[in-house]
Amino acid sequence: MGRYIGAVCKRCRREAQKLFLKGDRCYSPKCAINRRNSLPGQQSKRRKKQSEYGLQLREKQKTKRFYGVLEKQFAKYFEMAGRKQGVIGENLLRLLESRLDNIVFRSGFASSRKEAKQLVVHRHFTVNGQKADRPSMLVKPGDVVEVKPKSASNAKMKVLLDGKRMVTVPTWISVENKKATILALPNREDIDLEVTEQFIVELYSK
Ligand code: SF4
Repeated sequence: MGRYIGAVCKRCRREAQKLFLKGDRCYSPKCAINRRNSLPGQQSKRRKKQSEYGLQLREKQKTKRFYGVLEKQFAKYFEMAGRKQGVIGENLLRLLESRLDNIVFRSGFASSRKEAKQLVVHRHFTVNGQKADRPSMLVKPGDVVEVKPKSASNAKMKVLLDGKRMVTVPTWISVENKKATILALPNREDIDLEVTEQFIVELYSK
């Protein structure tokens, strides 16, 4: 599956929750979920009760879209989550949370995960002082993600760093100036995505 180029707000309306795909607009009254929280499409009112498979699929799609991950990558994360100790669904969310693009977004260095991905690819960050240009790079506790000094003066980055941060930085990340330190990986209750991750586990276990 390739890159989605349709109207992103439809994706939130489809899941009946904010997926924060559009940056600052997501925090404003213009957000489509605030204005029109109904299923997209003309047939939306006539949709029937979802099957068990339908529910499982929706939870997977929602999670994939929230983190901006494609199908194949998502399946890989699921495999990795299964190899770790603990609850598979929680492991999966923790892996997705530890992606570098997610850390950049959660730290308030980007207004959306999409923008964070772009900034990482354009080499605006270092991890532990080393070059980092892979949005899928996984960080661990103790890692430090920093805006490159040269990038901090870049017009786009300046707006992000000087502007009011819309994102609330989670307690497992400490942000000081242009530096984010990963204090720990998040517990399930620290992750604000409303999803029943057990449904994803059931879907992949078929
Ligand atoms: Fe989703 Fe953001 Fe669009 Fe609101 S503005 S519907 S949160 S993408």
